[in-house]
Amino acid sequence: MQESRSPAHPDQVLATFPDQQPGEVAEAVAAARGAAPGWARLPALERSQALDAAADAIAGAAADLTELGIAEVGKPRGEMAGEVARGVAILRYYAQATLDPDGDTLPSADGRSLLLSRRKPHGVAGCITPWNFPVAIPLWKIAPALAYGNAVAWKPSPAATAIARELAALLAAALPPRLLALVTGDADTGQALTETADLISFTGSAAVGRSVAVAAARRGIPAQAEMGGQNPAVILPDADLDQAAPMIAQAAMGYAGQKCTATSRVIVVGDAEAAGEALAAAVRRLPIGDPADERTVVGPVISEAAMARVLGAAAEVERDGGRVILGDDPVPEEGYFVAPVLADRIKPSARIAQEEIFGPFAVILSARDDADALRIANGVRYGLAASVFTRDLDRALRFTAELEAGLVRVNGPTSGVDFYAPFGGVKDSSAGPREQGKAARDFYTVTRTITISPSSPG
Ligand code: NAD
Repeated sequence: MQESRSPAHPDQVLATFPDQQPGEVAEAVAAARGAAPGWARLPALERSQALDAAADAIAGAAADLTELGIAEVGKPRGEMAGEVARGVAILRYYAQATLDPDGDTLPSADGRSLLLSRRKPHGVAGCITPWNFPVAIPLWKIAPALAYGNAVAWKPSPAATAIARELAALLAAALPPRLLALVTGDADTGQALTETADLISFTGSAAVGRSVAVAAARRGIPAQAEMGGQNPAVILPDADLDQAAPMIAQAAMGYAGQKCTATSRVIVVGDAEAAGEALAAAVRRLPIGDPADERTVVGPVISEAAMARVLGAAAEVERDGGRVILGDDPVPEEGYFVAPVLADRIKPSARIAQEEIFGPFAVILSARDDADALRIANGVRYGLAASVFTRDLDRALRFTAELEAGLVRVNGPTSGVDFYAPFGGVKDSSAGPREQGKAARDFYTVTRTITISPSSPG
């Protein structure tokens, strides 16, 4: 059995659950596969109504889900409540999307036949999710999978199992029996799902995502993997630092930096000392503490191992010839809290400026000019999100064209996702097609080309 514990109060156990074995996963997938054809055959309006009912159920349970998320993954109250509201909006969006056209008509070669391209579900969508967005990420996979007629087998992160159980129960109550299966456990359970589902949608770390994509390729099933980032925010000399600094501070340290889109590198063209001071002041203004407190912006990290990873990165700063400019703000003693760390005078090639630390840790890097800033920004293996702060339109255009990232923002934070817009990265941040919005339809359906010709000439 495994346990999920509260990162702010590690004595508190939120869930105990089994590491489900491959045989059990295969049974769950087989049951979902049995329910899939009936669901796919339903009139789209009925699927739409079921997704709307699921949205109502989640909206009705929003307060409970918010408390559970705060307790289980340590997400500060404001963000957790916002995430649950986003989950409801995602379900409503895909409830409507079931009514979108399900194909195209094309001119036929003979001028008499009907040439159609029509979309069909794949069967059972295997969804493997991380702990850091325990409501929104599962729903932005499960909702489109269902909307387009698939069944779902979902394996949440072990660290978010209590909230996953709650969410799955709410969804299942609005759906036909066995259409949604929840399987609990960690790597072995996830691997078993990869071996049995009809397509796989994964979000998590780069190493695991890559192995999931490889396993799916071996089986010849569609896969998408959304993975980590090492996201840059570039401050150009003409930027409004008073506007940029608080935005970057929030993107780097909010939710203790545990977002795939968090800012980890601040690249400064011009006065890096002034930018560092403005950033440090902005980070100091972010309230650190119990995630249940509605003022809190920086809560705990997820585990003791995550805490050690951030402290280890901080210890590397001076070894790399850098300087810690912030790192000893007081934090609560109970729980996995680490003070936000800001470091400068680091080389862009340093490990801590290359790898994802996934905690409240950011480095400030000096660039000689715009070209150097772009080289540094793009000089990592990841490419999820990037932002640039400038008032110069020509520079904004150049950076949006040349930054290697799936999401690029001008005068905005790297963090944050619009659920109705395509989402995904480049390089090691992503494999396979985009998630969210209309892009999800391409992944959760297969297109078939159909020609219907008259039975006799004339
Ligand atoms: P993780 O890779 O450790 O786990 C993700 C999921 O994969 C979990 O459910 C886990 O149990 C499962 N898993 C582990 N090994 C597996 C295997 N061999 N086969 C199949 N499944 C397996 O990630 P995490 O710690 O839960 O989440 C943090 C990571 O997720 C960070 O790297 C973060 O950047 C990334 N993330 C990316 C996005 C995005 O959309 N790009 C969003 C959120 C988080």
